[in-house]
Order: sequence, then C-alpha cells, then structure tokens
Amino acid sequence: MIIDPHVHVLDKGHWPKEWWDWVARDWANRVPGRKPEDIVEKAEENLLDPDGGRLISQMDSAGVDVSVILPIDWGVDYHAARTLDEINQHAEAVARLHSDRLIAFAGIDPRREGASDKLERWLSGSFKGLKLYPSTGFYPASAEAFALYEVCAARDMPVLFHTGDPLPVMDKEYARPKHFAAVTKAFPRLKIFLAHCGYGQTDEWNDALEVAAQSERACLELSVLLWDDSTEEKEVELVRKIDQARNRVGIERILFGTDHVSGKKIRPPGFLDKVVSMFRRLPDTARKAGVSITAAEHDKIMGGNVQQLINVDWSRFRQTS
Ligand SMILES: [Zn+2]
Repeated sequence: MIIDPHVHVLDKGHWPKEWWDWVARDWANRVPGRKPEDIVEKAEENLLDPDGGRLISQMDSAGVDVSVILPIDWGVDYHAARTLDEINQHAEAVARLHSDRLIAFAGIDPRREGASDKLERWLSGSFKGLKLYPSTGFYPASAEAFALYEVCAARDMPVLFHTGDPLPVMDKEYARPKHFAAVTKAFPRLKIFLAHCGYGQTDEWNDALEVAAQSERACLELSVLLWDDSTEEKEVELVRKIDQARNRVGIERILFGTDHVSGKKIRPPGFLDKVVSMFRRLPDTARKAGVSITAAEHDKIMGGNVQQLINVDWSRFRQTS
C-alpha cells in the first residue's frame, strides 16, 4: 500500500492576505510594467481543489492508494478569509467524501486561545493526527506547543512538523531541526514526523537525523527531498541518506512523502507522477549506487510504516500495491 502522509488540498480563503500580497509583488517584479493588483484575484484560483477530486485523479495516475491531508494554520500573525474551524472542517469533509483514499490531520497554531481543548475535540472526532507549522512564529519547544503534544501523546496520535525552510514570507529560524531536540527529550515516545528533514538552503539533514536518534519514535519524512525536477544525482543522494538513517534509527522510521498540493498550477503538470515514480524506483537507484534497499524495506518506507503510526482501520482503504 502506498501512503503519502503529506498533501494539501485548498479551498478559497485558506491562505492569508499576507501570502497573496507577496505573490502579487513577486509576480509584478518579474516583468516590468506588471502591477500586483492584476494577479491577486487570479492567482488563488490556481491553488484550489475544493472537493479533492483533482487530488484523487492525480493519486490514481501516480499509484498512490492513500494520502493524508494536512490543513495549515498560518497562525496569529497572518490573516486568512476563512476561520481556522472552516479550514479544518474542509479537510475533514474532503476526507469523508473520499473515505477509502484520504485521512485528515488537524492543523492549529499552539498560540491560539483554547488550542488544546479544540485539538482534543478534533482528535476525538475523525482527525487522526496533528500538523504543526512552527515557521509561522513559534518554537516547537514552547509551553503552548507542549500542551498540544500532551493531547496527542494521550491518544498516541502523531504530530507532523514542517522542518527546514518555510514558504518565503515566513521566518526560517523556528523550524530548524535543532529546536526539536527538547521536544524528543520531553516526549521520547511521541510519534513525530519530521517533514522535509530540515531541507533548505542549508541542508540540516544531520541535525534532523540526530533529533530522530534521540527519540524512540520520531520519523524522518522525506517529502521535498525529491522534487519533479530532481536529477539522478539527487536520487542517489537520497538513497545514501536512507542508508544512513536505516543504520542510525531503523527502517521503521523512514517515511515517503510528497508535499503535493492538488490545485491547477501550484505544482507543475505531472508533479505527483514524477515524484512518486522516483520513490518507487528507490531499490533500483540504490542498486546502481552500490546500496541495498530490499523489497520489504521499500514497502515499509512507501506506506507500511505509516500504517503502524496512524490508528485507523486500514481495511477500509484502497490497496493496489
Ligand atoms: Zn507541506
């Protein structure tokens, strides 16, 4: 079973004004004579997939059985047209609409008032984990964030963190892997997914690996380490990282992921196909690089491990591989 624990499905008003202002300025700056106000209306259309239909057909084409939708809370300093409740309800509704293909995590900024009570309610409903985006302005080891880990730990539910470089409008510092060491120290049994493994302008893979090694259950989630324009060299580099992680923390803590966004234009055409196919050929790439990834190990990376980490009845989901 191929399970992608990292996708985003957006509806209108989910991303904040501050983001659209940045997009508009960036677009206008690229070609002289363009005005920011000419783009802002149209740009959002390109991100949307209100009922998740596009995502499902892209998953069909790429051979992904199940994906986890991660709603993003941009936090207290950014201002979206939709409320946080609406954004989370959307993820839940899309997952319900495709209940044999999609799972929803909840997203909430720990600094919001009543965040743990809200999370408690969501996790006792149909949400199966928590997505956190520290780059919006909080440190993963803050007291407010710890309160949310308590909620997840009590239910043995995973927390997926963005780590490494964020979207351009945000601050890179907050989600650097080194800031997670205090989290794994305080919650060694918490199921943590370190999404992107600290990837960015400065690759902080070694720090991410170190953090995972300090925990009993933190996982290295590989989305963004391969992109649709990745060269063969990048694929080989990933195989070597997997080899290193297998020796250090074990194959059970290495997870495939894509960070796909299913809107029309936010990812290039064929993005999911290309990225997934690179992950599917990992054992071949490994062989060429003189490393071995067995079929059983590959199955674990592609979905077997996530099946152990998310508490759902997996028999209700599609399984083609
Ligand atoms: Zn993401």
